[in-house]
Amino acid sequence: MSDNRYDVIIIGTGAGGGTMAYHLAPTGKKILILERGDYVPREKANWDPQVVNVDAHYNTKESWLDKDGKELHPHTNYYVGGNTKFYGAALFRLRKEDFGELRHHGGISPAWPITYDELEPYYTQAENLYHVHGNRGEDPTEPAASSPYPWPAVSHEPRIQQLSDDLARSGLKPFHVPVGVMLDERNPTKSRCIRCNTCDGFACLVGAKSDAQVVCVDEAIKYPNVTLLTNALVQRLDTDASGREVKTVTVEHKGQTKTYCADIVVVSCGAINSAALLLRSGNDKHPRGLANSSDVVGRHYMGHTNSVLMAISKCPNPTIFQKTLGVNDFYFGSDDFPYPMGHISFVGKLDGITLKAGAPAITPNFTLEFMAKHSLDFWLTSEDLPDPNNRVEVGRDGKIVLSYTPNNLESHARLQAKLKQAMKQTNCAVHGHECHQGLFGQGFFGRNFYVGQRIPLAGVAHQNGTVRFGHDPKTSALDVNCKARDLDNLYVVDGSFFPSSAAVNPALTIIANALRVGDHIKSRLGVVTDAMAGTREIAFSR
Ligand SMILES: Cc1cc2nc3c(=O)[nH]c(=O)nc-3n(C[C@H](O)[C@H](O)[C@H](O)COP(=O)(O)OP(=O)(O)OC[C@H]3O[C@@H](n4cnc5c(N)ncnc54)[C@H](O)[C@@H]3O)c2cc1C
Ligand code: SF4
Repeated sequence: MSDNRYDVIIIGTGAGGGTMAYHLAPTGKKILILERGDYVPREKANWDPQVVNVDAHYNTKESWLDKDGKELHPHTNYYVGGNTKFYGAALFRLRKEDFGELRHHGGISPAWPITYDELEPYYTQAENLYHVHGNRGEDPTEPAASSPYPWPAVSHEPRIQQLSDDLARSGLKPFHVPVGVMLDERNPTKSRCIRCNTCDGFACLVGAKSDAQVVCVDEAIKYPNVTLLTNALVQRLDTDASGREVKTVTVEHKGQTKTYCADIVVVSCGAINSAALLLRSGNDKHPRGLANSSDVVGRHYMGHTNSVLMAISKCPNPTIFQKTLGVNDFYFGSDDFPYPMGHISFVGKLDGITLKAGAPAITPNFTLEFMAKHSLDFWLTSEDLPDPNNRVEVGRDGKIVLSYTPNNLESHARLQAKLKQAMKQTNCAVHGHECHQGLFGQGFFGRNFYVGQRIPLAGVAHQNGTVRFGHDPKTSALDVNCKARDLDNLYVVDGSFFPSSAAVNPALTIIANALRVGDHIKSRLGVVTDAMAGTREIAFSR
């Protein structure tokens, strides 16, 4: 095998690509991982809210365009581990019902080509691999699972426990959010995670967050058959003369252009960049872009309708690790609104620096410092629906154009109203109902403040849907194994395969699906895994 020829090339090292590399590494196959970014440098600034939230130091400096041609600076990160380096590690399974068709106020959320039961074993593997801490049976909408979480839930700190008790008294079923951090509360002196206040949105300085670099890529590259090339931006994929196989992968690496070949190419650049890469790779056999005979590639972009709401109390909120409580009582609707509304949980505790920087006079009644010390900082997610006109395109100059018109917004407004109503019922021992001073709408993401609005388009954290898997070649570019229908050796395993966005965080589903597709690729490579013998090769076949 020549130097630039591999069995498998994986492009991107986030939730999808990093997990795929981990899964395939023990096969002995010659694997090349291409990642456009470098490692996140380990430095004190990793945990500095000024550097991270205000200066947006770790975000890409790329600019994209919106549908009106206005520049936008995406809040996304190009590093080994992808966006999982900065994620909040809330690792949810989709609900069983999310895999079927669901009627929303704003339209239909389409069915997936696989059922929850088909993905369930991979969710279990994913939870074990990413050290998920949670308690089964608390979340009223959680689907059946074949085993308990590998770790007990991260405990609530007193203020969050008080809120949980209040919400439970009012008839709701608050639960512990499943989180992927390497925290051992029974053994704090040995625990890798120190339970700090700079987790969600920050890279973990002590390597204790279950991100795709720490959990997967670092492990994969211990195998001599696996090579990782960082700072390697994949520019295009070219096919052979038949147009049925990706033949070469062209990479810009430290100012040089290099080409690599593989029997199997796995694209996992994130939903926006994967679509852009396929669109940029068009040729005479694929005039609309690679794998795009369906004209689906780039379309149906979804990113959730997200907002942050700060509930201010007279009592302070000294919580350090806030992302432990969730409420799913309104996920599928309520008596007065029979449509799905979504999911309520928390962002990491907001701090004075983050609030002060760039914040206009959010409210005349409170100082920002008071707000930061007294707020409960809720994160609300509602499903946005796949619309073919919400799409990723590549402009003439190669720039990404992201066109998006929000939809299904009534559900999000109803979810906000439900939270407001629930908060009014909270009743503290010192101030009674008077403790709760109000709820302030704030679309907050990184360095910008958008008072009373949703997270803006630049907040692409939950990007998904742009390549789509499915049974119907007219409405999906990928088959049920996430193989591009138009090509024999191309797979896509980042968030772009989602046919609908559901309303819980996406990463665990991306991870579980990468393990599922990884098993398919293993069998295609002639590798079987059995519990007794581990992974072994029986033959090489394609
Ligand atoms: C602040 C923040 C908080 C979040 N919190 C949560 C959470 O709590 N729970 C949750 O489930 N999700 C969360 N998310 C979302 C989660 O991080 C993503 O869903 C997940 O990382 C997506 O995985 P992916 O494999 O699709 O893409 P990514 O993780 O984005 O990985 C894509 C990789 O491809 C690389 N790449 C891109 N283009 C190229 C190219 N042309 N050549 C080579 N490499 C390329 C990128 O550098 C990157 O490493 C959060 C995201 C952010 C930003
Ligand atoms: S130490 Fe724990 S809480 Fe702090 S960033 Fe790391 S994983 Fe998150």
